[in-house]
Amino acid sequence: MRPNSQNANIHTAICGKNPRLYPVGGFVQIKAFSKINLILEVLERRPDGYHNLRSVMQSLALHDTLTIKPHTPAKGTPPLRLTCDNPSLPTDEGNLVFRAAQYMAEAYAISQPLSIHIEKRIPVAAGLGGGSSDCAAALVGINRCFGLGLDRDALREAGLRFGADVPFCITGGTMLAQGTGEILTELPPHPDCWIVLACLPIPVSTGEIFRQVDAKAQPDDGPESTPAPGVGPMGEALKKGDIPGIAKEFFNALAPVTTRMHPEIDGLIAQLRELGALGAAMSGSGPSVFGYFENKAAASAAEHILKKTIKSVFLTRPERMRLP
Ligand code: ATP
Repeated sequence: MRPNSQNANIHTAICGKNPRLYPVGGFVQIKAFSKINLILEVLERRPDGYHNLRSVMQSLALHDTLTIKPHTPAKGTPPLRLTCDNPSLPTDEGNLVFRAAQYMAEAYAISQPLSIHIEKRIPVAAGLGGGSSDCAAALVGINRCFGLGLDRDALREAGLRFGADVPFCITGGTMLAQGTGEILTELPPHPDCWIVLACLPIPVSTGEIFRQVDAKAQPDDGPESTPAPGVGPMGEALKKGDIPGIAKEFFNALAPVTTRMHPEIDGLIAQLRELGALGAAMSGSGPSVFGYFENKAAASAAEHILKKTIKSVFLTRPERMRLP
């Protein structure tokens, strides 16, 4: 597939009817949604050193925004220019968006210069999948921009080279992720509810957490003897739209490891419960923690109280799957 060189009317080509993409005078913007792990089971270590996982992943409305702008080729214009409103993030090969754009330009012989801006709202290195989601948004956005016609599976395959969570982020929604995260099964869409997300300002290294992962962190009867979470009680609760039932099933095998190093995460989970959360858990390898609330008033009150001591607190909701 070759990019369409006639990009004069790019907005119609780019945006179609996809609510995730919208035109803004000569460029497109795309939302990159955060994610949480409702269930995260760590299975055996693979020969490549990674662990097989089984996770129920859920997109949240909290998002970054990517603005992608193709330019007319001109002397001196760099082929790719990345900017970000968070100065702590790299804007070169160190950024997954840069690498995704570079890959697409090379793989599909895109000669038109591109500029991409990231408006960063998802806390960085927080277990919320921000980098993976930005990367997926760059792949989806460039695919649309240049009319490459890559479907969901082709975009997921391209995304896997940049990280295990990228394939999920191509569509987001509610999914069972297996393997290192690349084997995806769609689950019933999550019912609407209010979620308070809080991110403590502590550094957590995902690599270090996985190095320390302890087999005892698994459920008592071991993951192999339990049903995959998508078809067990979590799948049932999702199907019924049972929010307390979903909250009852939260599980994160990495939580004992992360909280051993940072006990304040356990304190935050307990605080969310005291503030009325139906359930609360850590996302990914941490340090972010989320609590589920059935009504907005209770969630807002909890958000307000947590904000007195924690800078990064968000009131958000589940986000449904969006086709690329
Ligand atoms: P996950 O939940 O997938 O493990 P995370 O939420 O813990 O991810 P990220 O926010 O994706 O972590 O950041 C992890 C690292 O990736 C950071 O140290 C950062 O330097 C790097 N990175 C590269 N590109 C990006 C990006 N666009 N946004 C955020 N981080 C990025």
